[in-house]
Amino acid sequence: MNDPVSRAVSGKGGAKPLKLYKIKSEPALDPTGQTRALMGYHAPTLDDYLRISLLEALDLDMRDAEFFIDLTFFCNLKCNYCAVSSKERIALDWKQSLIPIKAMSLMGVRSAGLGGGEPGIYQHTPKVLQDLRDLKIETTVFTNGIWAKSQRKLETFMRARPRGFMVSYKAFNEDDYKKLTGVPVPTSVMKQALGNFSRRFQQGEFQDFKVNHVVTSLSVKNLSEMLWLMDLPSPPTMILTMVEPHSLSAIEIYPDPRALIKSFSSLLPALDKSAITYIFDSFPLCLLGERWGKSLDVNRFIDRRTRIYFRPRPDGDQILIHKGYQRLIQYGYLKECDSCAKRAVCPGIHKRAMKYYKNGVLTPFQH
Ligand code: SF4
Repeated sequence: MNDPVSRAVSGKGGAKPLKLYKIKSEPALDPTGQTRALMGYHAPTLDDYLRISLLEALDLDMRDAEFFIDLTFFCNLKCNYCAVSSKERIALDWKQSLIPIKAMSLMGVRSAGLGGGEPGIYQHTPKVLQDLRDLKIETTVFTNGIWAKSQRKLETFMRARPRGFMVSYKAFNEDDYKKLTGVPVPTSVMKQALGNFSRRFQQGEFQDFKVNHVVTSLSVKNLSEMLWLMDLPSPPTMILTMVEPHSLSAIEIYPDPRALIKSFSSLLPALDKSAITYIFDSFPLCLLGERWGKSLDVNRFIDRRTRIYFRPRPDGDQILIHKGYQRLIQYGYLKECDSCAKRAVCPGIHKRAMKYYKNGVLTPFQH
């Protein structure tokens, strides 16, 4: 191992070793397979992956592959549904990560998502964006967006010309922000930040502008608050995502499906009349009714692109490689689903949240 690539990956020369893994070929881990519904609750862990070398990684199909890069595990918010541990103030060894990123970009990777914790508060994010731009990799930044209330800060990001931003809009008032994140973010701050993003988007400084709202019990009755996004100079695409109960404590903020159906009955017709494009993530399709085709999950069943996930670890950063959306193995079906015409394209119900669907909430699609 005398070449620089091998040295960086093995950790010789000072850096802690960067370890690569790929998902095991195990039928039960196939999110599109029938067996996933039979497994108990199972979020993919490192045990579901095999350690591989960089050369083995480069042998995988990298056409249309996508990086997802967590720069740190630190965030200025502490969302109670989030899997990121804000206590770990560690960062990816970027110099070391750039070696496999360069090699994989030569194999065809052209797209990246940049997460954090929170990339907006990490001082090296603009440089990371610029390095990716130099490799002709188009990057979308996943952020809570609060920092963009400062035009000056946003300008530092814009200089590296990211492809876009996906801003997580967590609650509709300061009190609910505090309950959800521990931080009382005033609505006026989020509106200012989103206004700044929107003006840059309108001027063509980036191409992809999305606002993601994670639906929880705190927001389910007030989803129509999202309609103010129509007033922005250039509105974003709206994504409504069902909260994913990573931890048992997050179950407490899982929205009642009946309240959701009621809220959708007023929100969705209003959205249809607006200029806003909207899509859904992680909802059972029957809750979306005739709008089921707007579910991202429908496409995930046929999306077999390679995902290359970089994450910092105190004992050496990791690269996890999988195909498709392994997170769907956390979803299953109830008995009502047996007769449903959409079962083959429906994510089903998060296994930790099944109890909320046991009283006739589901209306299976007819053949
Ligand atoms: S009845 Fe079941 S399979 Fe059909 S759309 Fe609803 S959750 Fe999905």
